[in-house]
Amino acid sequence: MLDTGRTARRLESYVQGAWRAGQGEGKPLANAATGEVHAYIGSDGLDFAGALDWGREVGGKALRGHTIHERALMLKSIGMKLMEMKDEFYAESLATGATARDAWPDIDGGIGTMLTFASKARRELPNARVIPEGAVEGLSRDGSFVGQHILVPMRGVAIHINAFNFPVWGMLEKIAPALIAGMPCLVKPASATAYLSELVVRRILEMGILPDGALQIVCGGVGDLLDHVTGQDIVTFTGSASTGRKLKAHPAIVENSVRFTMEADSLNAAILGPDAVPGTPEFDLFIKEVHREMTAKAGQKCTAIRRVIVPKGQEQAVIEALSDRLGKTPLGLPDDANARMSALASLGDRDGVREKIAEISREAEIVFGDPSRVELVSGDAETGAFLNPVLLHCADPLTATAPHDIEAFGPVATVMAYDGLEEAVTLAMKGKGSLVSSVFTNDPAVAAELVIGVAPFHGRVMLGNRDSAKTSTGHGAPLAPLVHGGPGRAGGGEEMGGMRGVKHFMMRTAVQGTPRLLSAVTGEWVAGAPVAQGTHPFRKSLAELAIGDQLVTERRVISEEDVEHFAHFTGDTFYAHMDSDAAKANPFFDDRVAHGYLIASFAAGLFVQPDPGPVLANYGVDNLRFLTPVYFGDSLQVQLTCKQINPREGTVYGEVRWDCRVTNQNDEVVAEYDVLTMVAKSWPLPQEA
Ligand code: NDP
Repeated sequence: MLDTGRTARRLESYVQGAWRAGQGEGKPLANAATGEVHAYIGSDGLDFAGALDWGREVGGKALRGHTIHERALMLKSIGMKLMEMKDEFYAESLATGATARDAWPDIDGGIGTMLTFASKARRELPNARVIPEGAVEGLSRDGSFVGQHILVPMRGVAIHINAFNFPVWGMLEKIAPALIAGMPCLVKPASATAYLSELVVRRILEMGILPDGALQIVCGGVGDLLDHVTGQDIVTFTGSASTGRKLKAHPAIVENSVRFTMEADSLNAAILGPDAVPGTPEFDLFIKEVHREMTAKAGQKCTAIRRVIVPKGQEQAVIEALSDRLGKTPLGLPDDANARMSALASLGDRDGVREKIAEISREAEIVFGDPSRVELVSGDAETGAFLNPVLLHCADPLTATAPHDIEAFGPVATVMAYDGLEEAVTLAMKGKGSLVSSVFTNDPAVAAELVIGVAPFHGRVMLGNRDSAKTSTGHGAPLAPLVHGGPGRAGGGEEMGGMRGVKHFMMRTAVQGTPRLLSAVTGEWVAGAPVAQGTHPFRKSLAELAIGDQLVTERRVISEEDVEHFAHFTGDTFYAHMDSDAAKANPFFDDRVAHGYLIASFAAGLFVQPDPGPVLANYGVDNLRFLTPVYFGDSLQVQLTCKQINPREGTVYGEVRWDCRVTNQNDEVVAEYDVLTMVAKSWPLPQEA
């Protein structure tokens, strides 16, 4: 390692409300591409137990004082400000060996993931501190005892131990859902690239948006931190399976049943369908994707393609096409515009990848590249951690083990052939569980058989074909709304997946009791809970409206003329409404019936209060069900009850969900649904609105 005397930053940790350098001058961290010392790292002497207590007592308490939407808005503001600062992060990222193209998924991808979580949480979760989940289950005949699940934030700290390859994304994709859930975070970035994570955390904390204790970072080792975890803490780990297994077996984690999520090594595959022969768009897309996954971030991506599974007879065509592309991938310094690929994260990593290639090549032959020779367009092969791509071919993949077991975390992949789709699935399964695989085919039958076959071994499967060639987000990109994680060897963890990701940081508790008490816990009206009648609820702004406010309407009799009129007016002359004999022949009806949508329309006519007022708009209905047929002469009545009030932060209105129950003269429920409205927080609306 060459120290040119350039001033290198001493990284600090932010714990217990202050930036603190560990004892001593710290361990030097090298610039991946030049070998110069870029920063010093060390956390010796920090009080790790104190950091956890600080997070739990100061950060957790403050976060739980905010609603989910308030916490999501904090992240939105942070994400927008980080976007404005990103040039600084791209500059710092060069030291990791990442080209601008490599850094994009880390920096833009990380901030974008945080913003996606912030936006989805405000759209999909209630603006509350508790999330009721699923239906209310009746547990007694008379409805006096019911049950429902609720989700509340865990009372501990979310400890995120991250890998070196995504110092920004790896941190933000984990802290976003945890903070929205209401859990404080302590991030421990991998030492090799911790300078970039530290810089981003500095900028976040300088914004002063997060309450103190909500976000801490330890740069360096975590000392005795894990000795102090409790059953309320959560540990998420990304890195090697060996470290992951060791940490998962830590006595404090085992004894306290600490939730431990692991994202570890993964021998991801790309499978070429039998229909995707040379000359088809799918063949070209496959070659392009394998090349991209081998070379992006120099193959140091947890989702990179390691196994290239192709139909028997196509090996040579695939090897030739890939070799052609790999041969046109100049290697050089990360800021060199002529370089398509840059360095691995460290010289140690390069040694490790070369060793792994040697191990794999005992059962496979190198068909492109030479791991011992480095060819560069810029940079120094001795001081920079450069390695040109290497492609191998395994002739007997059903009996070989190394290509399925050994993850060379660099620009390395092995081509192997299958004979029949079942064998393709067998080969993919030999990875023993992966984060992602992709299938390139234009044949729906091939897509169905391969995806259903490999799905139990994968967290994500991407289908590539000509129709999504321009829009596909690609094999390698984990996406905020979709699950990231895989079974078995991939760690058995699950991250992201939209709001599921938030719920990973919450406790799901089944609550049983009377509707009145359950309603008090969840903040949502439950059938059987008290109601209040009086002023028409559509005359009330959010300031006046309460859960349980109810309207019971007049009755309206449905006549044959109503049904005839509705049928001809709308064009819906379905026989069950128009033809008595045909309706009677239908097993569901005794005669002609009213249209379901006529019932919903008459219901609105019964419950709406027409004057200008605080109800601003009706934006839909949920869970609409027609339960009992309505015949001519039946009389309908509506019971409309305020079920959920969701004020929107930063606006003059909120969402109100109404329980709407339409009954007939025999008190049978003919239709049931939730009516969704936007209601003003106060009425009249403020002038500026
Ligand atoms: P490691 O498993 O060595 O490190 C991962 C994280 O764990 C780092 O933050 C590391 O910190 C930390 N760590 C290591 N030992 C301990 C410990 N005893 N207590 C607490 N924390 C600890 O993996 P690397 O990041 O070095 O990557 C190595 C391999 O991991 C790669 O070659 C690849 O196979 C795999 N990997 C998998 C990824 C995935 O998402 N599935 C992503 C990246 C890598 P420190 O750096 O300070 O040692």
